[in-house]
Amino acid sequence: SDEFAARVERVEPSATLAVSNLASELEADGADVVDLSVGEPDFDTPDNIVEAGKAAMDAGHTGYTPSSGIPELKSAIVDKLTGQGIDCGPENLIVTPGAKQALYETFQTVVDDGDEVVLLDPAWVSYEAMAKMAGGSLDRVDLAAHDFQLEPALDELGQAVSDDTELLVVNSPSNPTGAVYSDAALEGVRDLAVEHDVTVISDEIYEQVTYDADPTPLATIDGMEDRTVTINGFSKAYSMTGWRLGYLCAPEELIAQAGKLHSHSVSCAVNFVQHAGIEALEDTDDAVEEMVAAFRSRRDLLVDLFDDHGVDVAVPDGAFYMMLPVDDDDQSWCMDALEDAHVATVPGGAFNAPGYARISYAASETRLREAVDRLAAGGFI
Ligand code: PLP
Repeated sequence: SDEFAARVERVEPSATLAVSNLASELEADGADVVDLSVGEPDFDTPDNIVEAGKAAMDAGHTGYTPSSGIPELKSAIVDKLTGQGIDCGPENLIVTPGAKQALYETFQTVVDDGDEVVLLDPAWVSYEAMAKMAGGSLDRVDLAAHDFQLEPALDELGQAVSDDTELLVVNSPSNPTGAVYSDAALEGVRDLAVEHDVTVISDEIYEQVTYDADPTPLATIDGMEDRTVTINGFSKAYSMTGWRLGYLCAPEELIAQAGKLHSHSVSCAVNFVQHAGIEALEDTDDAVEEMVAAFRSRRDLLVDLFDDHGVDVAVPDGAFYMMLPVDDDDQSWCMDALEDAHVATVPGGAFNAPGYARISYAASETRLREAVDRLAAGGFI
């Protein structure tokens, strides 16, 4: 139909909807569902951040702010990014209501009708939707055969990236796999990006949630400083999903264009939330460390429990997800596991990774044990 714009009609509603609808129905009927489908930390926002948000409201920080963010927050972000070795000043930043908005603005700014966007599968659901809404065409490289690592897939990436490629998206640590890409992988990305003049989004939203290896920021790889858009946000590291705060850091010319989109759509991120963001960046190291330690022991527990049942999973190095190998028909596996064992997971198909279910371990160790027991008892693993 031509009733609505093609840019929305060509995007599918979230493939996770069937699972969450069924989970809600079961819970409404009184079932005790172990929900391992959620993409948010199960911790409260640290107190000092909440207090800073309240204090900012009390102090009257409730009006519009400069479109690209308040100078004090931008300066705190500059300190954070330069501390990571990223060459960045306030002129390189737009503060957004969530990293998702930062990604959306980047896709809209970089991708024209017919431009090619390369994704690494399994990929977070919204990249595909954002590429399509911008009119882009997709070329995908599957990392599933390589334990979700990029370095062994560089040849395949080399076949996908060409002079027609406008944008490549890298997300390390990855949602949904938890993979952290090696420096050699990022250098491989650099070689291709430079050769074919490609802009690369580096979605680093899980950068602080890592266990073994710290990921190198892509923008610090020699040759990438002028072609990387670094995306980050407060949702995951500081358990601030509902506050909606994130940012993009990019070359000034890109920021000038994206800034128009930003000012004509969202205007600015919420004023007092930006003030709370300063507190998060400047004084929340201990709380982050505690949350990451909890995620680490849950990861270890889950890997061990699956191992006890003879199931080998690719051990994630970051974020709070892992991919469980299931039937080829992952959609049915997830619906059945939910219906019969009351364990909610996300079908791999949602991430273009059929044959897997994504497990989020943003849940207590008791609930994780319960989930594995139920899956085993139901014959699902
Ligand atoms: N990028 C990835 C890979 C994510 O998993 C998410 C959230 O699920 C986001 C970006 C967006 O985060 P937010 O908009 O809450 O900052």
